[in-house]
Amino acid sequence: MEILKLLPLGNISKEILELVANVLKETYNLKVETITSIAIPEKSYNPSRGQYLAEKILDFLKKKFSLKIFAITNVDLYAKGLNFIFGQAELGGQVAIISTHRLNPEFYSLSPNRKLFFERIEKEAVHEVGHVLGLSHCNNKNCVMCFSNSILEVDRKLKKPCKKCRLKLT
Ligand SMILES: [Zn+2]
Ligand SMILES: [Zn+2]
Repeated sequence: MEILKLLPLGNISKEILELVANVLKETYNLKVETITSIAIPEKSYNPSRGQYLAEKILDFLKKKFSLKIFAITNVDLYAKGLNFIFGQAELGGQVAIISTHRLNPEFYSLSPNRKLFFERIEKEAVHEVGHVLGLSHCNNKNCVMCFSNSILEVDRKLKKPCKKCRLKLT
C-alpha cells in the first residue's frame, strides 16, 4: 500500500486533517500519515495579488520531501493565468495541495455551514490526490475528477471518482 504524507501548511484544525485522511483512505488504496505542520514558504507569496503561487509551493515541497506529499493550507492560492485555484497537483507525480480559503461559505459572505465546507474540502482533496495517482480531468460533471473553476462546480460534483476513472486506478 502506498504511503501519502498529509502536511498542514500553517494552522489547520485536527478535525479537517482527520476528515481528509479518512476520505483519502476510503477512496484510494493509500496509507495516510499526518506529519508535523510547517510554515508556508514565504517566497511563494505575491504581495501585489495578496495570494500564494501554488507552483512555487509544490516545487518547495518536492525539494524538501522525497515522499508523496499532500499539503493543506488556508491561504489563497493562484496559478499563472488564473485568478485563483482551489488546488494543484503534479499529474502522476509526488505532490499536491489544496486551499480551504475559497471552500468556506463565509468567504462568499454566507452563513457558516460546516457540513458544506467539509464536503468541499473532501472533494478537492480527492480531486488533487487523484491527479497525483495519475487521473486527469474527466468530462462527467458528477465525477470528482471534473475540473472545477467555480464553487458551484465544486458543489455539483460528487466526492467520488466515476466508474471510468476508478478503472484507470487499478
Ligand atoms: Zn484538476
Ligand atoms: Zn471520472
